[in-house]
Parts: sequence; C-alpha cells; structure tokens
Amino acid sequence: MTRAIIPLLLSLMIVACGSETVAEPGSEAAAAEAETPEWRIVIHGGAGVILRENLSDEQEADYRAALEVALDAGAEVLKEGGTSVDAVQAAVLTMEDNTLFNAGKGAVLTAAREHELDASIMDGRDRNAGSVAGVKHVKNPILAARAVMDHSEHVMFAAQGADDFAESVGLETVENSYFTTERRVKALDRVLETRSRTDADRHGTVGAVAIDKDGNLAAATTTGGMTAKAPGRVGDSPLIGAATYAQNGVCAVSATGHGEYFIRVGVAKTICTRVELAGDSIGAAAENALDQVADLGGDGGVIVMGGEGQYDYVFNSKGMYRGMMDSTGAVETAIFEKKD
Ligand code: ASP
Repeated sequence: MTRAIIPLLLSLMIVACGSETVAEPGSEAAAAEAETPEWRIVIHGGAGVILRENLSDEQEADYRAALEVALDAGAEVLKEGGTSVDAVQAAVLTMEDNTLFNAGKGAVLTAAREHELDASIMDGRDRNAGSVAGVKHVKNPILAARAVMDHSEHVMFAAQGADDFAESVGLETVENSYFTTERRVKALDRVLETRSRTDADRHGTVGAVAIDKDGNLAAATTTGGMTAKAPGRVGDSPLIGAATYAQNGVCAVSATGHGEYFIRVGVAKTICTRVELAGDSIGAAAENALDQVADLGGDGGVIVMGGEGQYDYVFNSKGMYRGMMDSTGAVETAIFEKKD
C-alpha cells in the first residue's frame, strides 16, 4: 500500500465511522455536530401552535431570555465539571420558577382549580431514575423527583405520598395557590366555559438533556400537565420511557406534547431503543416515534441527544421553545417552526 493511499483510506474510515452520529440533513443540529463538544445542554419549554404573529416582540424576547437563563444555569454546572444530572436539574429548576412556563410556579390548573404537578429525572450512567406525579405542595417538583432517585429505593411516588416524601427529605413546601397566576385562571375559566382546549392549553412542559465532560447523559422533564385535566390525571412527563429517558452511549430524551399519546407510544424509550438496536440516527428515531404519535392523533416534540453529544429538536407541532449551549461557545434559542 503506498503512502498516498493510507491517508485516503483513513479519511474514508473516519467518514464511515462518523456517519452514525451525523445529524439529519438540514436539521438545526448539523452545524453543531461538526465539533464534538466537551459538554452540551439542550432544553425545551413546550411545543404547540406557536406562531410568530401571535407572539409580540416583547413576549418573544421574554421567552428567549428565559431559555438563556435556563441554559446558563445548566452550563454553569457542566463548565465546572459537574454532572449532566445536576445540569438538567439546574436548567429546569429556573423554568419551574418562571411563570412563562407550564411547570412549577405558573403551571396550569386542574378542573378542580388546583395544581397537580408531574416531574421526572434520569441518570444515563446507571439508568437510575426518580419521578413524582400529582404533587400539590413541593415548591420544585424536579427536586422531589431527584430526591426519589437519590434517597429512596423506589422510582416513582404519587400524590400525597410524593408530597410527604418531599417534605421528609427537607424540600420546601408551599400552599397550592403559590403556583397560581392570573393567566392560568383565565385559561381554566375559558376551557370550562367552552368545554374545549386550545393547543396552548395542552402544552408548556419544560425539559432538558445534557452530556457532561465524562460523557454521561441525563434527562429531566417537569410540567403542570394540561389545563382543566381531571383531578388525578397523570400525563407522560413523570413516566420514565414516555417523556424522559437517558442511557449513556445511546441517547437522552425529554418530550412535550399531548401526554396520552406519548404514553401510548412510549416515546422516549422508543427513540433510544431505535438508536440502540435499529442503528437509527437520533433524528430519524425521533421522527419515527413522533410519526407514531401523529398516527394516533397526537402532537408535540422532543429534544434528543446522542451518546457523543449530538443533538436534535424534532416536533410535529407548529413550534417549540428550545435552545442549546455547549463548550464550543455555541448558543442558540429558537421558537417557531423553522430555524429562527
Ligand atoms: N406532556 C404534558 C402532559 O400531557 C403536557 C406538555 O407537554 O405540555 O401532561
């Protein structure tokens, strides 16, 4: 073999080996994948009919600023060598405290005029996970989910038992009215009066996926669910495998959308299984799962990260609040259908 041929063969091998982690052509991920980052965080703030004409410049600026605050919080952890599980928690925590999103303070109301909050978190290192469903008093449901993962022998707690557990590990509790905002009261009144939900009444969940300097993946999702949901209804957000999944070397997913359909498809686990066993790219796997959701009549989206930190946003709704930050200095936020 001549010296001239060896570099050619090597470069062909590199192209072939790299093909598994290449983003879907034309996806927003394509450019970022050119450089493998030391760490990266990707977030969403809910998917739905989010049209430029329905969002004032000021509202758009507020959402973008809130997405950047969340990205900064996650990046701060990763930059310092912290774990991806701490990073996704830090990012969604800021969104739970921001009334723009349907999670924590500012969450939607049930038909009984209360808040019942759902959250989950998963660590890709050992696939340990924690989640809470239907909590009414823990101030930050994502911290309760984390506590379930770290301080219990279980994966999931629901309702009063979940609030009691959160309190027993010292988490801050609040009156249920702490979560209420005028905007959500108006939305509930409208839904109860018209007996119909707009798209916006079903969306607004937040989530994050990340990879840290050690290559560990993690995912987190937290929500108030859907406006005027029946008391006791549990959506996809606290269900490991439906809205949240993370497995090192394979993929991490956080989903948002019409929860009943995401549960029925098992969206997050379907995506990771397709990546692991069918050899799909993360984008193709996510599209497959969302096509199944659409076939059943649902809509929504996912953020997905592959084992090397490659990422994609895939949604079949008209928009999704989303963003990414990584160690190469790349920062992006987007809201509408096309890259914006
Ligand atoms: N998936 C959430 C639920 O059904 C709603 C959302 O994503 O906004 O509870």
